[in-house]
Amino acid sequence: MEKNMKDRMNNEISLSGSPGSPGITIGKASLYRREDMAVSSGEIKDGEVGDQIGKFDKARKRSLTGLQELLEDQEDETVIELINTQIEMINDPDLCKRVETEIREHHQPADSAIHTVFGEYLDILKQNQDDLLDRSIDITDIRDRLIQFVNYHLPQAEVEQNTILVAKELSPREVIEFSEANIKGIIMGRGGQTSHAAIIARSMNIPAAVGLKNADLISDGNEVALDGNTGKVIVNPRQSTRQKYEKLIEQQLKQQAEIEAFCAEPNETSDGHSFTLRANIEFAEELDSVQKCRAEGIGLLRTESIYLQREHFGNLRMQETFYKAILEGTKPHPVTIRLFDAGGDKFFEMSQKEQNPFLGWRGVRMLLDEKELLKNQLKAILKTANCFPGRLRILVPMISTLEEVLEVKELMADARNELKEDGITVDEQPPFGVMVEVPSVALQAKTFAEHTDFLSIGTNDLTQYVLAVDRGNELISDLYDQRHPAVWKLLKQVTDAARGKNVPLSVCGELASDPVSACCLMGMGISELSMGTSALPAVKRMLRVHSLKEMQQLSRKVLESEIMDDINRIFREWTQKN
Ligand code: PEP
Ligand code: MG
Repeated sequence: MEKNMKDRMNNEISLSGSPGSPGITIGKASLYRREDMAVSSGEIKDGEVGDQIGKFDKARKRSLTGLQELLEDQEDETVIELINTQIEMINDPDLCKRVETEIREHHQPADSAIHTVFGEYLDILKQNQDDLLDRSIDITDIRDRLIQFVNYHLPQAEVEQNTILVAKELSPREVIEFSEANIKGIIMGRGGQTSHAAIIARSMNIPAAVGLKNADLISDGNEVALDGNTGKVIVNPRQSTRQKYEKLIEQQLKQQAEIEAFCAEPNETSDGHSFTLRANIEFAEELDSVQKCRAEGIGLLRTESIYLQREHFGNLRMQETFYKAILEGTKPHPVTIRLFDAGGDKFFEMSQKEQNPFLGWRGVRMLLDEKELLKNQLKAILKTANCFPGRLRILVPMISTLEEVLEVKELMADARNELKEDGITVDEQPPFGVMVEVPSVALQAKTFAEHTDFLSIGTNDLTQYVLAVDRGNELISDLYDQRHPAVWKLLKQVTDAARGKNVPLSVCGELASDPVSACCLMGMGISELSMGTSALPAVKRMLRVHSLKEMQQLSRKVLESEIMDDINRIFREWTQKN
């Protein structure tokens, strides 16, 4: 019986979660569980109020000192920002006032007052959004630290060196602290790819699988094989599985070395025509992969996460820190910052439920209604531009009319003047461009080219609007293909318009990350492409092995096609040729 039980416990178990941070590793599991937070019950006497407020105040100061110490060793801007967010929360005057009121007026001891007030914050959070796991992890983490300091009870969160950490959830602070124990990997029961813990894990190059529902099946000391690229975890791997993972680790190291070497080759077609490949990114910790694949700067910096993650979009300083980190990390290349593109599939608190969100209040439409938010972002961008002359470009999303372009330009002038009134002179005039992602702009590309410094085609949205196919609707996903003949014809029209007006044109939608499409775009005359860093090496390889002449022939054939079947055939032939 005992033997059976033991056998079962040693059986290989396969679990799957989401990819949190790339990399494969094998090691011993180290379970981590936060201590349950016990708080005092009962009421305090009038004479104890001052003492309890003093305890709270001391706990705040000690928490702040702890975070500041943590900050001192950090270089990664994302990590710094996440710690700063916690510091801001602890310094929040409203929070302090509410805890003091609980102590003073409701006679609660300091620890229970903290518990009550943070509980109210967590309740509001739950009502507003069920997707705000990160915020609640942050808030719970601060709450627990404060209570621990009030009660002079600081449990040592210890983990064995070189093990794989398994936890239900982790706060950014915990990931940073545990990384000092050289953990080999992280497995988390909750969270997704964009959870703060995953972001920190990526920036620290620690493989991680997140959102693993059955993580509690892992026991302390179990051997686990973790694949952070797929989110897969194997507990107690058999010898054959272990060997498979060891091989994968070896391959991974080899591939990385190969890709890095290949990416160092020049961006040139086989007949010597140059092209430019830039990266689409959203987080500062992606900079490492930007450098590894040798992207020539950032063709699309999505800025939505500034709000979504930090809930302080209006905070100019935090925005500036983020932009500066990106410009620092991509020297000497250009960086295109796209203005906040909320709405559609990108959640934004102020937005109301709409019947057709993709046709609704999104991108520049929202920005022009939220002028302070827009001006704030423009100010942060202008101030950053001044520190990095000639490297920053501004891109406006979801433009559909010329009036919108003119209005944003006016607001940019206002932002510049307001900065001047505050004693900050910005001499830098960053090039101003618009996304070509609504058919009206594609059709009037000539006019838009006259009023802008560059155009960037967003094929993800352009396709959904041209084909009237919601890009996120699984029921009709077979109709959504960016290589549709109508899309190619429209792209050709935009290319001709931009060339006629001598305005630089690039593609930053997913189409650019498909190697054959990239050749077709190059053949059509678009030599600047921007894509996710993981796609860049394959695109580069395809562009390097063909001549521009071949690519021109490809694009001619594609433009003559009227149905998807023909396009598929042409693409197949092109790949078989290699
Ligand atoms: C696009 O629409 O092609 C694009 C790049 O923007 P997003 O995917 O962020 O909407
Ligand atoms: Mg778009």
